[in-house]
Amino acid sequence: MAYTMDETHNSPNFTPGADCPAAFGYPRNIIGSTIHHWDEKNSGATWAGTLGTLMNDYRNPGSRGVSAHYMIETGRAACLVSVADAAWHSGNPRGNAQTVGFELNPDESDGTYQTAAEVLAQVWRDWGIPHDLFPHRDWTQTDCPGGYDLVRLRRMAEVEFAKLTGVTPPAPPVKPPTKPGPAKRKTYPVTDINWLVEKGDTLSKISTFYLGDASAANIKRITDYNGITAKTVLKVGDRIWIPGPLYWIIEAPDSITSIAARYGLDPLYLARLNNLPNQWATIYIGNSLTIKE
Ligand SMILES: [Zn+2]
Repeated sequence: MAYTMDETHNSPNFTPGADCPAAFGYPRNIIGSTIHHWDEKNSGATWAGTLGTLMNDYRNPGSRGVSAHYMIETGRAACLVSVADAAWHSGNPRGNAQTVGFELNPDESDGTYQTAAEVLAQVWRDWGIPHDLFPHRDWTQTDCPGGYDLVRLRRMAEVEFAKLTGVTPPAPPVKPPTKPGPAKRKTYPVTDINWLVEKGDTLSKISTFYLGDASAANIKRITDYNGITAKTVLKVGDRIWIPGPLYWIIEAPDSITSIAARYGLDPLYLARLNNLPNQWATIYIGNSLTIKE
């Protein structure tokens, strides 16, 4: 489905990318996209009205001083702020500094999903940014984006991205094929991932647990990181340190606590590493959690 992209509107409400560290405390290193709806479903809010709000100069009396990078509804989009700059959409310093803001028509229609998926894919490709999607409610107290299903939207956008780039996106970087076995691993509140060697453990087993397989390349990553070789005999009580980056792709019924337990991490540490307020924060199927940078 084709859409039109209107680039004739430039909102005055933005922070230049280079000014983000001073304004927000974060550089404009984009970590993903924040998805909004521009009002409650069935509120009657219009494209023109929303455009007016997002374009209203923050210096004008009565201006809300807000903006977004893109507005989207079935068959059309508008770019109001360059992705290179921070739009004022999330009510959160990091959300503004490090994400791209998309305002969707709140109709939650198949058409709006489809156009949003196509625009996301184009922006991902043009700007080379991560595909993670954040609901506005991750950044501040709000119901936004209502009933939008971001797992569905991301799947649709990945399909469009594959069409645009001609290549299927690579598989998630690290996905161990099985959940941990009955190993009795001690839990340490450490920030570097390590495996405490027990009787019968091998580098293959450890590589499979953390890196998804026991390929020669992955075993070499581990041995290089530990200054050992593939022939080194592991002794009970040794610690094998695991090189990053490590990610976990969230699936049901994962929680921050269950994922932290798998890696022997303190749940609060893991939450903070991922810029979540605490270990009870909501996480989303299909998004990734950073285990080690
Ligand atoms: Zn919002």
